[in-house]
Amino acid sequence: MRRLLWTGLAAAGALAAQTRPVVAVAGIMHESNSFNPAPTRLQDFTVQEPAATPDILKVWRSSNTELTGYLEAADQEGLEIFPALLANAMPKGPLTRETFETLLGRMMARIGAAPRLDGVLLALHGALIAEGFPLGDEEIVRRVRQAVGPRIPIVVTHDFHANVSPAMLRYCTALVCYQQNPHLDMRERGQRAARILARTVRGEIRPVHAARKPPMAFNLIFQNTYQGPFARVTRASLELETNPKVLAASVVGGYQWGDTPAMGPAAIVVTDGDPALAEREAARLADLLWQTREQIVLRLPDPAQAVREAMRAARFPVSLMDTGDNIGGGSAGDSTFLLAEFLKQKAVGWVIAIADPAAVQAAIRAGIGAAFDQPVGGKTDDLHGRPVRVRGRVRSLHDGEYLETETRHGGGRYFSMGPTAVIEVEGSTPDDLNLLQLTTRRVFPSSLHQLISCGIYPSRQKILVAKGTIAPLAAYAPVSAQVLFVDSPGSTAVNPARFRYRNLPPNLWGVQ
Ligand SMILES: [Zn+2]
Repeated sequence: MRRLLWTGLAAAGALAAQTRPVVAVAGIMHESNSFNPAPTRLQDFTVQEPAATPDILKVWRSSNTELTGYLEAADQEGLEIFPALLANAMPKGPLTRETFETLLGRMMARIGAAPRLDGVLLALHGALIAEGFPLGDEEIVRRVRQAVGPRIPIVVTHDFHANVSPAMLRYCTALVCYQQNPHLDMRERGQRAARILARTVRGEIRPVHAARKPPMAFNLIFQNTYQGPFARVTRASLELETNPKVLAASVVGGYQWGDTPAMGPAAIVVTDGDPALAEREAARLADLLWQTREQIVLRLPDPAQAVREAMRAARFPVSLMDTGDNIGGGSAGDSTFLLAEFLKQKAVGWVIAIADPAAVQAAIRAGIGAAFDQPVGGKTDDLHGRPVRVRGRVRSLHDGEYLETETRHGGGRYFSMGPTAVIEVEGSTPDDLNLLQLTTRRVFPSSLHQLISCGIYPSRQKILVAKGTIAPLAAYAPVSAQVLFVDSPGSTAVNPARFRYRNLPPNLWGVQ
C-alpha cells in the first residue's frame, strides 16, 4: 500500500495552540474459535461507518465500551475524533479471507480519507483468526503502521481474552487490554488508551512496552479476575498502575479456542521511556501467572452429574454454566446436553434458552396456548448434541428486543434475539415451571433481561442455564444461590482434552 503522507504533529515537535490533533478511531473485533466449523462471513458483522451510521459518535458515546472511553478521554484531552469504521461480530469460526480483506480494505480506505492524522486508536479483540492470517489482529496493525508510517502513534486496545503475539508490540505504540473478566472495565481501559495517545501526540511521554507469556494455557474456568487465583495477578497489575512511570499494565487470560502459536495468557506493561522497567514488571506479572498453576486443575461435573447436583440443592436457584456451548466464546447456541438431562431426570423449575429459528417458527405457526411438539436444538453442527423432542405448550411469543441499563460483561445496551417463543414444557406445575426459551438468534447470556423481557423471573426458577462460562456471572451470580460450572461437550468445551490442537507451542502447561 502507498505510504500515506501525513505529518504527525508529534513528529513536527510542536502543536499549534489553536489546532486540535486529529485521531482516527477504528476497530475490527472478533473472537475466532478454531474448532467451530462455521466460518465467519461479512453478513455476520455489524459494521458502523459514518456514511451508513447516522450520529456514529453519539452511538459510540452511548455504551460502556472502549470506544465510549476513547471518546470521553478525547474530549477531555482536546483531541478531534475522525471516526473510521467499527466492525463487530459474535464469536464463531475464523473469518474467510474475503471477509477479512473486505473489512480491512474498508477500514484502511476510511483512515486514508482523514484530512490530517496525528494518531490512531484501534479497538481490536486480540483473538481474530482469518483464513491465511492466524494472527489477524497483528496483520491489521501491521497494515495500519505501514500506511501511516513510523511516527504516527497507534494505541491498541484488546479484550481480556486476547492471544497477544509478541510482534503486535512492534507495530503499535502502546497496547492496553481489559484487566477484568467479566469485562466491566472496557470504558476505563478505553479512556486510558486515549490519554496515552493524547500525551504521546503532545510529546509529553514516550511509551515503550514489553509482553511476557508464561508457557501455559489458563483455562477459562479460572479466569475470574474478581476472585480466585487470577484475582491476585489482576490486583498486582492494578497496583503497578499506581506507579507514575507505568502508563498501563495488563494481564490477559488468553482465548483457549484459538489454535495459534500465540494462544495463552500474557502480561503487557507500558512505561514512559523505561524499557527495563517494562521488561522487569511484565516478567514479574507473568511469573505470578505461572505460580497459579497448581490451583487451576480442572475438576468439573458432566451434564448428568450437574443436573443431579442442582436438583438436590438446599437453596435455589442453581445456575448451570453450559461451558461447552459458550455463545460468547463462539459456539452454536443450540446445545441440548442439559435439556436432555432435565427431561431424562424429570427435573422441575428449570429454564434454558436455545437458538433454533425453525422451532421458533413452529411455535409462531401454532400460536399462544397451542400444543408444541418439536425436535429442538442440536441442528447447527455435530458438536452440540442431537435434537431433543420437546412436548408442551406455547406460553408466549415475543419480538426478542431487550435493553440492559446496567454495566454487564461487554458493556452493550441494546439486544435483539429475533422472534422468540417461550415453551412451557411438560412436567410443569404452577409453582415450578419448566421453561424453554427458543430464540431466532444466538443470544450471549450477559443480561437477565433476556429472560425478564419474556416474562421469565429468574429468581423464581430452581435451575437456570447460562450458555457461557465466566461472562454471565455479572448478571447471574447475584440471583443465584449457587453456580455450577458444567464440563459439557461443544465447540467451547473447557476441557482441552476434548480437542486436537495443531498450532500451539510444544509442551504448553494446561493443555495436555
Ligand atoms: Zn472477552
